[in-house]
Amino acid sequence: IRPMSDLASTATNYPSTHERISQPQDTPYFVDNAFVESKADKFMELHDPATNNLVTRVPQMTDSELQSAVDSAKKAFPAWRNTSVLARQQIMFKFVGLIRENWDRLAASITLEQGKTFADAKGDVLRGLQVAEAACGAPELLKGEVLEVAKDMETRSYKEPLGVVAAICPFNFPAMIPLWCIPIATVTGNTMILKPSERDPGAAMILVELAKKAGFPDGVINVVHGAHRTVDFILDDPDIKAISFVGGNKAGEYIYSRGSANGKRVQANLGAKNHAAVLPDCNKNHFINSVVGAAFGAAGQRCMALSTLVMVGETKEWLSELAESAKKLQVNGGFEEGADLGPVISPQSKERIESLIASAEEEGATILLDGRGFTPEKYPGGNWIAPTIITNVTPEMKCYKEEVFGPVLVCLNVDTLGEAIELINNNDYGNGVAIFTRSGPTAESFRRNIEAGQVGINVPIPVPLPMFSFTGNKKSIAGGGASTFYGRPGISFFTQQKTVTAMWASADAISTKADVAMPTHN
Ligand code: NAD
Repeated sequence: IRPMSDLASTATNYPSTHERISQPQDTPYFVDNAFVESKADKFMELHDPATNNLVTRVPQMTDSELQSAVDSAKKAFPAWRNTSVLARQQIMFKFVGLIRENWDRLAASITLEQGKTFADAKGDVLRGLQVAEAACGAPELLKGEVLEVAKDMETRSYKEPLGVVAAICPFNFPAMIPLWCIPIATVTGNTMILKPSERDPGAAMILVELAKKAGFPDGVINVVHGAHRTVDFILDDPDIKAISFVGGNKAGEYIYSRGSANGKRVQANLGAKNHAAVLPDCNKNHFINSVVGAAFGAAGQRCMALSTLVMVGETKEWLSELAESAKKLQVNGGFEEGADLGPVISPQSKERIESLIASAEEEGATILLDGRGFTPEKYPGGNWIAPTIITNVTPEMKCYKEEVFGPVLVCLNVDTLGEAIELINNNDYGNGVAIFTRSGPTAESFRRNIEAGQVGINVPIPVPLPMFSFTGNKKSIAGGGASTFYGRPGISFFTQQKTVTAMWASADAISTKADVAMPTHN
């Protein structure tokens, strides 16, 4: 494998996916608006999940390299926070335009490193781009409040940046999740350190190349690499004021507690187990198509994947039809025409998913559709699992209790909507939930009584667009969900408030006596 500087690409252009496939090269980091080769002695290999061919090596950056990224962000902060919000907005407009122009390039990098289909990777980019588009509304979103609190006295509030902030990202949305943070953290005047997943950092590298072209000054956005060591560095660095984390519960709970203990603001979106309640009065065809897409799309590696069905009453009879439909999905390399889902991220992940399927069998569930052992002809070396449907599952089974994060749908049976709601509410996670019904009152009762934070009514993946916020709850978010991603709460996370109370009339007032009682402004 070669260092990036060996190739035709310069320090300002990240190489194309085509170039990277023909000549694998180490992933650089990005500090002061330049790609830099790491002098690390430890690298993590990244393999194409469809072939397991080596794509790149990602450095476990050294402490001094990590420090250089923090120093760069720290140095850039005073000028960036004093850059007018209108100037920052102009850069964001350019960034948005460049992401759109490079949409296919970003998606190709995602398909190569993460494995999802090219069409799905384009969706990954788009959902992130929409956050950047919404961030262009910063002048409106950053407006404070003012009130004349008493005669001759007013209070104004300002939203000010925090300083250097960090984002730690998961592997499953290599563009969308970095873009949950980059636009909002920066348009509000912070400078940042981004740690993409060590399993697929390519899209983030392209994003920072575009950010530089858009006009972000040196040091406003830096990218660092590594695994736990890098995370610990971020958690313990006193100059980093806030951390935005998305990933699994093990890492997220650790990051939330250690980051908070170090006095940082931390927001952490975690794992999920998303249920759908299926009512006999629903549109069966819509239900089947929705669930097949939402359970198996992206090979089930979405935090909002619809992985668990609660079949109410006679709807359990529909499962064989659902299996017929799932069977028709094409499992193939993500660049192949017509591919519906690609491989899972790694051989270890495949093994873990297969062992969960085996545990269901051992615990007495029925494997209605078994995707184990499938391999597309052209890709004998990939991490393949075809759509799998497990029925007659009960809440005690391991396949129900654990997040599978693969193309596996588990199905439970109940008799009434009330039982469905109780079962879903008993689950520890609260990311997303859906109901399929034609009845308004049924949907309304579900909406009111269900505990999960994002509810779809005949909508299988109810991820809110960026003018709202991502509102998972319970075990799907750390800290009780006090801080959610993007939308107005995202702006609040990346800013601190300052309130100013002024009494200009005092300049000419003649006072005769000191007022020692607590002021009441009456
Ligand atoms: P992960 O937790 O393994 O990794 C996420 C990040 O944390 C990576 O950058 C990784 O380097 C770091 N990390 C991993 N283990 C660590 C540890 N022990 N200590 C410190 N840092 C560590 O998650 P993943 O496998 O990349 O992503 C899948 C998970 O993310 C799933 O559980 C999924 O539900 C969740 N997810 C949640 C949301 C959401 O918004 N709720 C969105 C996407 C993904």
